[in-house]
Amino acid sequence: MTHEIDMCKEAIVKLEDEQLELMEQSDAAQKVAANASQAAAERPESDRLASWRSGLSEENLRKELSALESNRTELAEAVEPGVRSKYDRLFNQRGGSVVVGIQNGVCAGCHMQLSRATVVECQAEQAIVTCTNCGGFFIIREDMNLAVAE
Ligand SMILES: [Zn+2]
Repeated sequence: MTHEIDMCKEAIVKLEDEQLELMEQSDAAQKVAANASQAAAERPESDRLASWRSGLSEENLRKELSALESNRTELAEAVEPGVRSKYDRLFNQRGGSVVVGIQNGVCAGCHMQLSRATVVECQAEQAIVTCTNCGGFFIIREDMNLAVAE
């Protein structure tokens, strides 16, 4: 029974990690789309025509932006409110890079050496683990080297 609960917890944390990562991608893409849309509007007519030809029309960008916004809303609703507000705060502070990986036992966000306990906690996937230095949300992927230097 305890094992089953642990398995469920693990699955939930994994999902939350994935949702946070998708939220970040969505937020970053929204920024790019908004910037491109603004840049397109500010450019002289000939440039705007050229970007329209390459498919970067303002209309397309607006469509993409609204699709991303509705996606983001769906994803955000599935994330625990406490985690979500922490994420939002951090994203606004940094303008991105909220979900960070671990490379060679180091936080990919701030390059601080992580303790073995922190890495083990991430691997256990029983809770959302954040960097004590930069506050980034850790995510673990198979291609990451988690070994902590002695
Ligand atoms: Zn960090």
